Amino acid sequence: MGSEDTQSISRIEEHGDTVTVVTPSVQDFWHPDRKSVVSQEWPDLFVSTVRGDERVRVATATHVGDTDGFHIHGGNGVYADIPLVERELTEAEIAWCEDTFTFGGDGRPETLVEFEMPHPETLRRGAQQNDTDVAPALDARIRDPDRRHDILTSIYERIATEDFRATKLSRWKGYPIDLDPEWDPESSDNDDRDAAHLNDMVSMRKDAHLQDFRDVAGFEYRELFSARLRVLGVHEPWLEDRDLVALDVAGAEGWTYCRACGGIAPADRFLHVERRTDEDRTVRVCDDCAERNSRGYWTEDAVARAQDRRAQQEGGQRRIGGEYV
Ligand SMILES: [Zn+2]
Repeated sequence: MGSEDTQSISRIEEHGDTVTVVTPSVQDFWHPDRKSVVSQEWPDLFVSTVRGDERVRVATATHVGDTDGFHIHGGNGVYADIPLVERELTEAEIAWCEDTFTFGGDGRPETLVEFEMPHPETLRRGAQQNDTDVAPALDARIRDPDRRHDILTSIYERIATEDFRATKLSRWKGYPIDLDPEWDPESSDNDDRDAAHLNDMVSMRKDAHLQDFRDVAGFEYRELFSARLRVLGVHEPWLEDRDLVALDVAGAEGWTYCRACGGIAPADRFLHVERRTDEDRTVRVCDDCAERNSRGYWTEDAVARAQDRRAQQEGGQRRIGGEYV
């Protein structure tokens, strides 16, 4: 928080019912997968910038009511819409900058952005009650709570479903298993379409749903999704947030993902390979990643042992894609 003499240029200050947020640039909120000064303190919160307009929207990805996993609720569509100001640095902030390596001298920003948001508890109460009337600062694109719930959750579900399909058909991590005939490259209906072509079609549908989500929510799907990952405590050092799929929302219970590439399949088809550095710990990976071992984190012997364990449990050396080795 800084003393009287110096003050960090990236900080939050709680003042009873409100919180003042100070940060070097509004761009600090443009990357939902990176922690901002706000999500650092309150992981369930996310800040969405309204480009071209000097405003931000702050909302919470907290679980509302009996939702769990990746499932959202209309209450997650309640946000605070707040003006932000760009201002020059105070003497105390300049003093703080001069004490740092990054922001000293030429590194000092010319201006800072500042806004005042409702206290996180107010935002959470608005979400839990799915009610914009909880505080004057709260708002939503769709004011009717039941309609908001129906529309937001159904678009969210469509995005998860397209994500699920697109991942199965991905060029890099795809296991095209259990696809509906219209999306199955092996189906005779798709003689003229391969997996890459079908993947492009799915991606276009997903983009349309993402646009719809932005229009009805007032913020981006990815902003809510990344915040939900933080709420769930999901930490995947090798993957980007966008590699992950809301499998439960897509109706894929019992499925999980490869921790190296994000490829998806029923959980029992993955290999659990002992790490080279810590043999007591295994990492869940798909066949391709296990064999490619691009990071050198396990040995060939460890992969063979993992294949044997899977064979004992499942009967036969069946790969994720279905063929035998
Ligand atoms: Zn993989």
